[in-house]
Amino acid sequence: MNPQRILIERSERATKANGSLEVSKVFGENVFNLKAMREYLTDEALEAVLRARKSKSRIDTGAAQIIAKGLKQWALNKGASHYSHWFQPLTGMTAEKHDAFFKPHPWDASGVESLSAQDLIQREADASSFPSGGRRSTHRARGYTIWDPSSPPFILDVNNVKTLYIPAIFISYTGEALDYKTPLLRSIEAVGKAASDVCRLFDPKVKDVYATLGWEQEYFVIARQYYEARPDLMLAKRTLFGAPPAKHQEKADHYFASIPESVQAFIHEFEEACFKLGIPLQTRHNEVAPAQYEVAPMFEELNVAVDHNLLLMDVMNRISARHKLQVLFHEKPFAGINGSGKHNNWSLSTDSGENLLSPGANPAENLRFLTFFINVLAALNRYESLLRACVASAGNDHRLGANEAPPAIISADIGDALMDVIVGFIENRPPQTTPAVRPDSLVSLERIPAPTVDNTDRNRTSPFPFTGHKFEFRAVGANFNCSFPMTALNTMLADQLTEFYQKVTQKTADGMETEAAVRTVLIEEAQNAMRIVFNGDGYSDDWQKEAAKRGLSNLKNTPEALEQLIAPQAVRLFQKHGVLTEGELRARYNVFLDYYCKDMETEAHLYLEMTRVHILPPALRYLKELAEVSKGCNELDLQNDVWKKTAAKIDKLVREMISAVKDLKKIVHDVESKESVEEKARAYANECRPLFAAIRTAADELETLVPDDLWSLPKYREMLFIR
Ligand code: ADP
Ligand code: MG
Repeated sequence: MNPQRILIERSERATKANGSLEVSKVFGENVFNLKAMREYLTDEALEAVLRARKSKSRIDTGAAQIIAKGLKQWALNKGASHYSHWFQPLTGMTAEKHDAFFKPHPWDASGVESLSAQDLIQREADASSFPSGGRRSTHRARGYTIWDPSSPPFILDVNNVKTLYIPAIFISYTGEALDYKTPLLRSIEAVGKAASDVCRLFDPKVKDVYATLGWEQEYFVIARQYYEARPDLMLAKRTLFGAPPAKHQEKADHYFASIPESVQAFIHEFEEACFKLGIPLQTRHNEVAPAQYEVAPMFEELNVAVDHNLLLMDVMNRISARHKLQVLFHEKPFAGINGSGKHNNWSLSTDSGENLLSPGANPAENLRFLTFFINVLAALNRYESLLRACVASAGNDHRLGANEAPPAIISADIGDALMDVIVGFIENRPPQTTPAVRPDSLVSLERIPAPTVDNTDRNRTSPFPFTGHKFEFRAVGANFNCSFPMTALNTMLADQLTEFYQKVTQKTADGMETEAAVRTVLIEEAQNAMRIVFNGDGYSDDWQKEAAKRGLSNLKNTPEALEQLIAPQAVRLFQKHGVLTEGELRARYNVFLDYYCKDMETEAHLYLEMTRVHILPPALRYLKELAEVSKGCNELDLQNDVWKKTAAKIDKLVREMISAVKDLKKIVHDVESKESVEEKARAYANECRPLFAAIRTAADELETLVPDDLWSLPKYREMLFIR
């Protein structure tokens, strides 16, 4: 009897969810937010934090002392015994090292709880133990984490153990960025400055512009028991084997369907934890694939939104285990059904909260909207290949460039109405089309109230559609830290806006009126930017051909895409805006490529091992069984014929699989001995992946021939359809 073939255990929590929750009572209670700061800080210290948050001035030691004291007292009152800087090394995950507040007095066996200004501001970490892409080595290892006052400290409650977390950047002894946050913050400043200058062409009162992000996080949930029985899920975070179940998502009966009870209990518990952490979650729903879900918050200032996404992923991971469930953030945990993305809704806002990408009632007359809208398209047009590179990973290769959303070609869908506005703007004529649907005629039933209608339809096939009042970058992988793609977007736009501003001010210096100058430059930008606009079906073959004609890149795998990260154009861009030095950029390239190789290496070893210990044994056992039953049958027996045919099929598949495994073994050996990481990555992409596919095809067919009780791996049917 195979232990996995039994019914899964349900957690007690699944049947005892505590449903009553008044969010406004608990929201942000574990965050050192404005309310807590007012209670624990002096007015001057509070003001210092607020000014630093807006990059107006640095917090001095005097203020830091008061802040540290107040923060410590708040944390102690909340039951925390330790504190930690919380940062984002290039592993893609967050990192932490806890220190006790308690400082002993050795001479009298007592002590006090304390947090000095220095403790708050700066901690040391061994930088050589994190991926640095060659920027640090074992004998040059010093690195620092430094407090980021623009993201509030919080208390994480892990199984009732409470710890104070202080968001921080991570740099080397020589001041190089070793993390995701540092370049993100630099890019936020760059785009803020460039956008403020452009904004002031329209309104001199605008002080600041900041980027906003609202992510949508897709994920799968399966029973923890199954996860633990699958070495591929545990180590590679995706299934390398698994025959397609007889039914999956073809009836679209999971999308927006009722949430299963066991999963709802889990969602409720992580939502409660997130609300306490000040993460403004808004929506929850079933996604398209069976066992797939989505969660999304209200958008926030970009830096805080990124921190909140990382925190959410950590919280979800922990809480799923308590429910005997496992959350999966991999981009493609199950072949043949939809994968998971993390849509990054991105816009810019003025300090008074005006969304610069809001078209208003009459976009054709809204020159400030047109300016920002067209400049985003122009930036995308110039740097499309760079943006593609920023979402490259082994996991995301299964979405981009495979038969799934969105394609590996970057383009923007702007909808028919705005297309008409832009073409009209270029041709200096008013827009021609009136919206296709009138709200009052949309519903003919008297009893149903008239709806409002968006000015754009939706295009799920576009990697970068404009959705009403923000762009939605859909190509980011579910498992990504949003920082890097957002850093690139900000920097691209900063570059575009800086150039736009220079061209306009050149014209006004020559005596042109500001508005005329803006229009003249903008028309030129819009004409060029049309190359990146595509409102059609991004999955179609026609688009692949059309995109090639337009000269847009179509980078199908990570090694190809990553080359664009260190192309001269990208180096110049990041350098010019002070976001990444060439060294820092190359370091990221090295780390990303190295991680790609490591992911592929893990998968290769799993293929070798799992065929040996999970796939072959049941196949061979069954072959033996078949041989024995056949012996007892007479030659003309129909049954004997069936046994023989089955045995022959299994025999053939086993041979095919073993042959592919042998080839893989040899190639893996060759690849691992290669010196250059580029060569390694290319060999994994071009030589190993086809063998992975060959092994899988044979193994998955074996799964459909071998009796259920002999098969040791949980099947897709079991993992995906738990209610
Ligand atoms: P839809 O994409 O269906 O139109 P919403 O407009 O509600 O849905 O937004 C989806 C996501 O986009 C949410 O996370 C939301 O907070 C975010 N979003 C909305 N407006 C902005 C904005 N100005 N900047 C960044 N994100 C935004
Ligand atoms: Mg979605």
